[in-house]
Amino acid sequence: ESLTVAELAKKLGREPSEVIKKLFMLGAMATINQELDKDTIELICAEYEVEVEEEIIVDKTDLEVYFEPEDENLNQERPPVVTIMGHVDHGKTTLLDSIRHTKVTAGEAGGITQHIGAYQVVDDNDKKITFLDTPGHAAFTTMRARGAKVTDLAIIVVAADDGVMPQTVEAINHAKAAEVPIIIAVNKMDKPSANPDRVMQELTEHGLVAEAWGGDTIFVPISALTGDGIDSLLEMVLLVSEVGELKANPARRAIGTVIEAELDKGRGSVATLLVQDGTLKVGDPIVVGNTFGRVRAMVSDTGRRAKEAGPSTPVEITGLNDVPQAGDRFVVFEDEKTARQVGETRATSALQVQRSEKTRVTLDNLFDQLKQGEMKELNLIVKADVQGAVEAMAASLLKLDVEGVNVKIIHTGAGAITESDIALAAASNAIIIGFNVRPDANAKRAADAEGVDIRLHRIIYKVIEEIEFAMKGLLDPEF
Ligand code: GDP
Repeated sequence: ESLTVAELAKKLGREPSEVIKKLFMLGAMATINQELDKDTIELICAEYEVEVEEEIIVDKTDLEVYFEPEDENLNQERPPVVTIMGHVDHGKTTLLDSIRHTKVTAGEAGGITQHIGAYQVVDDNDKKITFLDTPGHAAFTTMRARGAKVTDLAIIVVAADDGVMPQTVEAINHAKAAEVPIIIAVNKMDKPSANPDRVMQELTEHGLVAEAWGGDTIFVPISALTGDGIDSLLEMVLLVSEVGELKANPARRAIGTVIEAELDKGRGSVATLLVQDGTLKVGDPIVVGNTFGRVRAMVSDTGRRAKEAGPSTPVEITGLNDVPQAGDRFVVFEDEKTARQVGETRATSALQVQRSEKTRVTLDNLFDQLKQGEMKELNLIVKADVQGAVEAMAASLLKLDVEGVNVKIIHTGAGAITESDIALAAASNAIIIGFNVRPDANAKRAADAEGVDIRLHRIIYKVIEEIEFAMKGLLDPEF
């Protein structure tokens, strides 16, 4: 492992000139593009009190290095990968089931379907769509927190008889934070009490304006129960994904993400992988997260044995040495020896990594991060006991005017700070502000594990003052 001065500086979040100065003080002259050996890297890292293993060898995105860019002309269209989100009881599970049953791959109708965490359907024009089968934004955001971007499009289900509810808003904000396009499925249209206009009205308050009202958000009225409107929903999904020009090259070695994984008594480590580029084949040497192996057997979402899986296809595999985690990346290698080496290195160094040691933004290190130019935007999540307080605080926070920083409120809500808030904060590097509310026990544990900064207050101006001081680097150090 060797790095140039510029690369090392980037990994350390420092200016190259600063690293060169440090080297000079250690008695070594160096230029910006000079290669540094391992000892020198360690020396510099020690100066910055950074563990070499933590910051340099174990990098969650490390595996991408083994998947070099190729000729884009070889890319072909690939199916979109869709996540369904929405408030509890608004019909996510019913919709997932209904889509699956009305659109099973031709020739497989009546076949036993198997839950592997994702499935694929084919429309009348032979166009495929992949659905992640774990409804809810918690799973979505947990994956994103681990660096995986798997979803191309989010369907947000809103029951027409109930309207926009707190988790609807959460789902919208999670999708927006991930910069994923949104389609609104207005569900339960079969109910006499259905009021789709109200849903449209309420969603305008969240920046989602229906096309019929001059906006650009697609609303599709459906009944997940009777199946009405599901065809048009799928049509819209394909329409929106065409705009995104989703492409991949099926002719190369595969790369992708773990959807779920577990230890099976009989089969050992079993993992559902979503192939995102390339084609995965039985027998492929593979590194998955911090484990490795050779693909022994593959089973498709319809429970059939498969020999290969192309872009956007979910597939269950066996043959890994250990159980990876949802959100881990995988890459196929040319030979087993390299796969083993990379896998073992990652496993060893992962042992030394404490997840909480990741540099998350906190009010205490905010100014340093801003100064280093690493951050231009301060992401905040605002929770309060009542909606009025949420709005008052959000308005004041947005008025904060400190040069070089943009305050961005990525989510607000009335009620306790929940695990879902922590997951969103971790994924978006945000600070959570609680006004007259506290985190529940699960949220507290998650925040500690993820190193998410939560600030609790009872006086609004104190909140604003604290954030402003932190942005200006004036925060009392004993805070
Ligand atoms: P989830 O919590 O969002 O996954 O919601 P479910 O799919 O479990 O649905 C909650 C309840 O709403 C169930 O009793 C469903 O049968 C019912 N439901 C879902 N979709 C519809 C629909 O389109 N029409 C009617 N009438 N009921 C529905």
